[in-house]
Amino acid sequence: MAASNLNNAEAPLQKDLDKCVHCGLCLNACPTYRELGVEMDSPRGRIYQMVQITTGQAPITDAYVEHMDLCLACRGCETACPSGVQYGKLIEAARAHIEENRPRPLPVRLFRWFIFGQLLQTRWMLGVAGAGLYLYQASGLQKFVRSSGILKLFGKLADIEMLSPNAETPFFFGQIGKVFPAEGPQRYKVAFLAGCIQNVSFARLNEATVRVLQKNGCEVHIPEEQGCCGALHVHSGRKEDGRKLARKNIDALLDGGFDAIISNTGGCGSTLKEYHELLENDEAYHDRAHAFVKKMKDVNEFLGAIELNPNLGPVPLSVTYQDSCHLAHGQKVRVGPRKILAAIPALRFKEMPMSDLCCGSAGIYNVVQSEMASQLLKNKMGYVNGTGAEVIVASNPGCMLQLDAGARLHGTGQRVMHVVQVLDEAYKNYSS
Ligand code: SF4
Ligand code: SF4
Repeated sequence: MAASNLNNAEAPLQKDLDKCVHCGLCLNACPTYRELGVEMDSPRGRIYQMVQITTGQAPITDAYVEHMDLCLACRGCETACPSGVQYGKLIEAARAHIEENRPRPLPVRLFRWFIFGQLLQTRWMLGVAGAGLYLYQASGLQKFVRSSGILKLFGKLADIEMLSPNAETPFFFGQIGKVFPAEGPQRYKVAFLAGCIQNVSFARLNEATVRVLQKNGCEVHIPEEQGCCGALHVHSGRKEDGRKLARKNIDALLDGGFDAIISNTGGCGSTLKEYHELLENDEAYHDRAHAFVKKMKDVNEFLGAIELNPNLGPVPLSVTYQDSCHLAHGQKVRVGPRKILAAIPALRFKEMPMSDLCCGSAGIYNVVQSEMASQLLKNKMGYVNGTGAEVIVASNPGCMLQLDAGARLHGTGQRVMHVVQVLDEAYKNYSS
């Protein structure tokens, strides 16, 4: 494809690319560069390639697509960069630019159409998929498949199967549309975003989140019209899908008079807080997107900033914490989760080295780039094992699935929990 023929509506903006001064201070923070030592798989190298493409000096080639696809969009480089390069914005634009100019092979397009355009956007489809997953697991078929090793005959399928989440019945869908009263005097009125896959695979986490918020004086609303946040779409270059979902969530949540709109998922929260960027050229939604973003809070951020209900019982566990990339690097939330864990009696916290280095989860990265994701997970589990902790705490369901697989494959039998699940346990263990 000739570079001059490119449609550049979604291309990275020159002013954003120009912020990179090629100093290389981000290289050591980049998981793919650390692994491969290849400049083109470093943040600086990827930005260089984006410049070549957007200025028309080079065409979009297979190699370019591969280098962009291999990026985790973890934004570790953004934290390390002293020049304020917004790398997350750049990689999302680069992927959207590829999408608008270069059709992927038909099977890949069909897979992406089904996952992004149908499954994640439709509650009943998620419910059917969840029921199928439940049958697969409850019937013992999963156990047989795993112990027989039969999927090793089908290439990457065995790796992908290892990451399949548990279907947690009853699903959380039944709670959508409800209002949960505050325990004790009401201090806040908040909306909770239940996510998409979480309704099936993290139903207990969502319930724990609601309980913990109630314990802290929140009247919790779960508005009916909410839907998937669009994070996976935006990270995969499907910005139009993301915009559609952003408008839907803004309409569902903005006008309810909420003090805060709360997510318990680092990856979703990061995109939800960037709706104003996604809709910056949408006149009708520009101001509403800004107002929405002001109300968005990660649950750790919200609880870390208010006076926590102190009726906490002991949770005698040794735990370590894995920073979710999009919570730490995207939302800059690092203190909240640690503050919450520090407040829990009898809990022993063990900080791990490189806690904010990606575990390889990165949305659906571990499915589509399973080799790199497996290597990063193995490295991560080395750090986890070194702490001797019996529980790995995280703040993002995707990381939790990846770490759960890591504990099974390379760990010492660690459990994986979300921060609010640990906090929920502490409230349950309280006796006055
Ligand atoms: S987002 Fe992560 S993987 Fe991608 S270039 Fe930055 S540090 Fe590397
Ligand atoms: S992204 Fe930032 S840290 Fe990395 S090379 Fe560019 S200016 Fe330097």
